[in-house]
Amino acid sequence: MQNNQTGAPVYSMTIGGEPVMTTATIPVINPATGSVFAAAPDAGAAELDRAVSAARAAFAGWRATPLAERRARLIGAAERIEQNARELGALFTREQGRPAGFARQEIHAAAYWFRAMAAIDVPVEIAEDSETRRIEVHHEPLGVVCAIVPWNFPVLLAAWKIAPALVAGNTMVLKPSPFTPLCMLRIAELLRDVLPPGVLNVISGGDALGPMMTAHPGFAKISFTGSTATGKRVMESAARDLKRVTLELGGNDAAIVLPDVDVDAVAEALFFGAFYNTAQVCIATKRLYIHDDIYDALRDRLHAIARSARVGDGALKETQFGPLQNAPQYRRVKQLIEETRAAGHVLLEGGPVPEQGYFLPLTLVDNPPDDSRVVVEEAFGPILPLLRYRSIDEVVARANASEYGLAGAVWSADVDRALEVARRLDTGTVWINQNLQSTPQAPLGGHKHSGIGVENGLVGLLEFTQTKSIYIPRQAGYKTGF
Ligand code: NAD
Repeated sequence: MQNNQTGAPVYSMTIGGEPVMTTATIPVINPATGSVFAAAPDAGAAELDRAVSAARAAFAGWRATPLAERRARLIGAAERIEQNARELGALFTREQGRPAGFARQEIHAAAYWFRAMAAIDVPVEIAEDSETRRIEVHHEPLGVVCAIVPWNFPVLLAAWKIAPALVAGNTMVLKPSPFTPLCMLRIAELLRDVLPPGVLNVISGGDALGPMMTAHPGFAKISFTGSTATGKRVMESAARDLKRVTLELGGNDAAIVLPDVDVDAVAEALFFGAFYNTAQVCIATKRLYIHDDIYDALRDRLHAIARSARVGDGALKETQFGPLQNAPQYRRVKQLIEETRAAGHVLLEGGPVPEQGYFLPLTLVDNPPDDSRVVVEEAFGPILPLLRYRSIDEVVARANASEYGLAGAVWSADVDRALEVARRLDTGTVWINQNLQSTPQAPLGGHKHSGIGVENGLVGLLEFTQTKSIYIPRQAGYKTGF
């Protein structure tokens, strides 16, 4: 790390195991104050080329490294991250805004993912085992993976890519969001003596860097997490040289509350499922369908929770909900709240929020029409429409009437009844009586415009591989024709 002209610390990139700085830098803002507190390198074509070359040079050695050794390196990475969790957690809060306890949780979750992914077996399947031949199906690494991640979970979503890609024998160039580059730059620095040089390269830059990466011919695959609009551009760019893609995109998740729930028992979980991380979660509840019988009671309970929620600087102990992560997102969500109010919909606002920084009150909308912007679009901020429904068929149709299909939830005292509803939702994940859950063992991905492919689980790991079928004859000699 160095300091720039203004005295702000500038974090270094990691390319080929070496620290790399650039003359130009991008400022990093603490969203709780709106002030710049650090800077990150602004990589251009030269640094990108250098990173891709380093990753390509490392690939042959890394893929030939025995799996047990690759696994050991990943476990070593998990240990190094855990040892530095306190420092990384504080940095996370400063750049991302999330309250300290939750920030540290993400650091530990990333380490957990490294360990768990290292334990997943990459199988060799036997497609045929007959008198004449055996056919083995192998899963081989692809080469250099381009990983691009957003600002809402800047460390965990990077771990979801790094761990499986590296276990499978690939090398990587990863780019964090320009809004939250520091934690991943710092983690790469901490791992310089844990992973062989060039296996994991982390570079940062402004808006030009992402498109430059997806167009770079040196990558075999792009693993992208971000908005649906950007995901479409990524796929278009990847198509030019048929790079493989995994796209984890936006969501407009519905949670359906059946009339048999205990309102007081579910209210808090429903609230956190929507507003955790100040509602900047791809798999957050973004449309809350409540049965008519309990609508008024649950709405009032949720409003009471919103009024008592403590919104503020994540560095303060009492804070439950931090700021919006960046100025453009703050402006977008603020405008959506104003537009929703101007359209005459009833807003139920949470308590006061700090004036300085990117803060907005946690806001509920009382039964707006299905075609209102706040229902149709992914807000990705603290405004949640509460929607009244009367029958299961009706609510399933309304929940599925979205261009998105990331996750969903069903809440009921009767798990079997909830399961019947869960089966009918067109989403990649459905939770019953819980939300925001993910695990390294279960695939997570989106239907429709929420993405292509999955992350996590064996299926997610195999997305970082190329399938190869090998036909092995039982006897010597040559088989001709069919
Ligand atoms: P974004 O699409 O604006 O940016 C994501 C990343 O892509 C950033 O690193 C950005 O610099 C980069 N990027 C921007 N333009 C690019 C381009 N043309 N080519 C290549 N890269 C480019 O998204 P965001 O605002 O950072 O994140 C919020 C969105 O991400 C929400 O829609 C959210 O639902 C989604 N998300 C999805 C998941 C999931 O698992 N499905 C997880 C988290 C967030």
